[in-house]
Amino acid sequence: MRQQTDWRRPQPTTRASHMTLASSYRKPIDEVDAYIKKRWQEEWNAGKTGRHLHSIQPEVEDKQQRHFSSRSAEVQTHRLRLGRCLLNSYLHQMGKHDTGNCSLCGSPETIGHFIMECPAKGISTTLRKMCQDRGMQFDLHTLLSNPSIAIQIHRPTDRRL
Ligand SMILES: [Zn+2]
Repeated sequence: MRQQTDWRRPQPTTRASHMTLASSYRKPIDEVDAYIKKRWQEEWNAGKTGRHLHSIQPEVEDKQQRHFSSRSAEVQTHRLRLGRCLLNSYLHQMGKHDTGNCSLCGSPETIGHFIMECPAKGISTTLRKMCQDRGMQFDLHTLLSNPSIAIQIHRPTDRRL
């Protein structure tokens, strides 16, 4: 008599045994990942350098990529995130600007001033409205972490940052 095969029942295969083996490693791998991320976060919180970026992004992040429509927008956004740009306040720190103040309104030209406060160019108004329309916080973290918003900082800027 011929033996019938039940095709609905999963048949043991070499691939299934690999999956079982891989899943047995999953828990220790996740524990190692969590430990590394915890140590990374502790070092990031206690660090003495990169404090501008820490104020924008206090949480360490892994495997996050930002996709920009142009290389120049990407470079500019990273400069603003790192606090290493050509705004007057930072030029003043390097001895390359007399006052460090905004030439349009006279306030210290910091990154926060340039993209969130200065009334002269309207960048802050545009960005505030974009955040409101999308239900997002209006802060440096949001503005400099989201490429579709950060590109708006790049467009109206007629000077190299
Ligand atoms: Zn200004």
